[in-house]
Formats: sequence, structure tokens, C-alpha cells
Amino acid sequence: MPRSVPLSKIRNIGITAHIDAGKTTTTERILYYTGRSHKIGEVHEGNTTTDYMEQERERGITITSAAVTTQWKGHQINIIDTPGHIDFNIEVNRSLRVLDGAIFIIEGVAGVQPQSETNWRLADRYNVPRIIFINKMDRTGADFFKAVKSLVDKLGITPLELQLPIGAEDQFVGVVDLVEMKAVVWDGSELGASFRDAPIPDHLLEQAKEYRQKLLDTALSVDDAAMEEYFEKGDVSVETLKRCLKKGTISGAFRPVLCGTAFKNKGVQPLLDAVIDYLPAPNEVPGIRTVVEEGQAGEGREIEISDDAKFTGLAFKILNDKYGTLTFVRVYSGMLRSGDQVLNTTKGHKERIGRMFQMHADKREEIKEVYAGDIAAFIGLKDTQTGDTLCDPSEPVVLERMAFPVPVIDIS
Ligand code: GDP
Repeated sequence: MPRSVPLSKIRNIGITAHIDAGKTTTTERILYYTGRSHKIGEVHEGNTTTDYMEQERERGITITSAAVTTQWKGHQINIIDTPGHIDFNIEVNRSLRVLDGAIFIIEGVAGVQPQSETNWRLADRYNVPRIIFINKMDRTGADFFKAVKSLVDKLGITPLELQLPIGAEDQFVGVVDLVEMKAVVWDGSELGASFRDAPIPDHLLEQAKEYRQKLLDTALSVDDAAMEEYFEKGDVSVETLKRCLKKGTISGAFRPVLCGTAFKNKGVQPLLDAVIDYLPAPNEVPGIRTVVEEGQAGEGREIEISDDAKFTGLAFKILNDKYGTLTFVRVYSGMLRSGDQVLNTTKGHKERIGRMFQMHADKREEIKEVYAGDIAAFIGLKDTQTGDTLCDPSEPVVLERMAFPVPVIDIS
């Protein structure tokens, strides 16, 4: 069976935030909207996504226990859990290694907080492309521009506003989309909130033009051809602008900034659009490398991110549940069928894969094959630990190991 989603339409992302900035709420909203869109045209039995979340909340566990797969506009988004608390730095580190991009949430009132700084530096270490979501725009004291300034002051980065807020605090009603130069407003609140396009309000027009110019200057600076097109025609197509935004996001030349309130359901759909527009597919980031020799820190060879290459994967989380031991694996190259044998090069022995699953918000789905770029949970691995390389026995490789333990980063 061929793969169901092309590699270019896969996004392996994490959501990181200072505690209380809204990571759980944003993740829930994402699963709610994507779950809903996923259900169109498909019959799902059992609980709805929200029911499932209620149950999870009652049980007091996080919904994204390791990785959850969902769909948005023809793309497959795998959300990999990145624990936020500082005590879990090793865990954060572990999961950062396997994701290709991240949503970085900061709070509209507090801006960048100390733990956000720590997580930011960790993501820097793995060159994880990031988009920033300024959450809680509905709260008293929320200030988009102050929060953006805190990104410059505390993280020393080049934030790039893709949106401007319309209204503030409890009057926050929507955003100006600076890429498409239109307004998006939400009607209602909570889960029923629906959104629609609207003209940019008159009082924001000048400001929107000013920020649009900044957006163009910054985004096009990463691409000579686009810059030339701009000088020739005086503008560029939305397509060209988006392409430049993606390029700059991947290289880290700038960090796109969006805003909203996850709790009141304003801004989550544009955030999802930004994930598929600006965060990279698995084959759009520099690939993971092999280790030259056990115990040596050589350059190694870059793994080819393709279905046609031999299978290579990395075990990044082990979970025990009522079904047994689940080994979460990030597949880098090749494909694998349930029942296949793999070589654990870290341990030096072969293991047989039992059943394989993809985890969704409301169910686990058994799959028969996994392909390059996928994240899946395997059953049947008896002696594989977090950080181990799994590969095709005919072509043994050891993947670049995750750096443990993570030194505590001094941010004082
Ligand atoms: P986490 O610790 O980052 O996972 O944060 P949570 O998602 O658990 O949110 C922390 C608190 O902030 C909860 O009480 C949420 O209801 C609240 N919260 C989250 N998002 C928003 C928002 O957009 N606006 C407001 N006013 N509160 C929010």
C-alpha cells in the first residue's frame, strides 16, 4: 500500500511554553478543530474528541502523552509532546530531537518568561524552526507589542509580525492578516466561535500598511529572486511571500509571530494554517546524521529522508499502558511493515516489530506500514530504550545520539 500522505504534507511539530502560558488549552483546541475536520466524510465510532479530552482531564493526564496524529487541510500534523517544566529538561531535549518545527507559546500579559528562555535556547541547539503564538490576548493587561518587544529583549531574536490584533483585552475580536492584507474576526466565544474575513478596520489601516512593509522587507531579504520581483513590480504574490516566509522560518532568519486566545478560540485556525505554510516537512530540514564510529563525535553521513532508502528510525519515548509497552519511533528513512525485523544498532541485536499504531486524540489506529517522516508507536520491542537507533539489518547505522544529560542552562 502506498503512503496515504505525501512526505511534503507531513509536519512533525512540538508545542512548547512556559507553564500556564496555555500549551494544554492550545493543544486541545487544535485537536478539537483538526479532529472535527478529520471527521468530515469519515465515520468514527465511540467518543468525540472533546469527550475524550473530558475523560483525560478527569483522569488528570496530558492528552498528548507522547505523540498524537491529526489532519489539517490535507496535511498530517504529528504533535509530539514536549514537556514544559524545567525539571523535565531531559524530556524536552529528547523530544526536540525528533521534531521538525515548533509552536512557541508566550503569554500576552507576561511576555517571555524565564522558562520560555530556557526552552528557546534548547530549541536553538537543535535548530528547530519556530513560529510564535502570543496567547491570552483577551486578558486584562495583554499587550501584543510589549510581548513582541520581550522577544527581542529577552531572546535577542528577530520577531516578524504576521498579524496585528484587532481590539484589546475583552474587546479582542480578531486579527489583521498582514500576509493577505485582510482582517479575520471571530463571532461568539468558546468552542462555538466561528470566524470570517472582514475589511481591515479604518483605524488600523495605516499601522497595517507599515507592518506589511516591514513584513515584505524582512521576508524577501532571504530570497534574491523574490526581492527582484518586488523591485520590478512593486509587490509580490501571496505565494511568493509565503515561500519566503517559510524559507526564513526554516533558516531562523526571523521568527513569525501570531496572536490570539486559545481559551476563547480566537486565532487557532490561522495558527494551524501557519504550521502547514511555514513549518517544514521532514525533508525540508537538514537531515539527522549517522555517527561515524561508536563513541566518536564525527560528522557522519546525512540520512536520506526518503521512502526509497533503507529503514532508519529513532526510539524517542517508551510508554507502558494496558496494551503493553509502546515504543514511539520517529521514522527518518525507508519504510517498515508490521512483522519486519529491525536491528537495534545501539544495543547490537535484532528485534521483531509487532503491531504498529498511530495515536489520535480519540482513538489509536492500527497501521500496517510506516514511511519516512512518520511517527508511530510500535508494540513488541523488548529491549529498545529511548535514544536507540533502529534500522534495516542489511544496512546498520547509528544515528546521532541525543545529548544526555542536558546541562542546566544558566539564564541569569
Ligand atoms: P499550560 O500550563 O501551558 O499547559 O497552560 P494551560 O493551557 O493549562 O492554561 C493555564 C491557564 O490559563 C488555564 O486556567 C487556562 O484556562 C488559562 N488560559 C489558557 N489560554 C487562555 C487564554 O487564551 N485566555 C485566558 N484568559 N486564559 C487562558
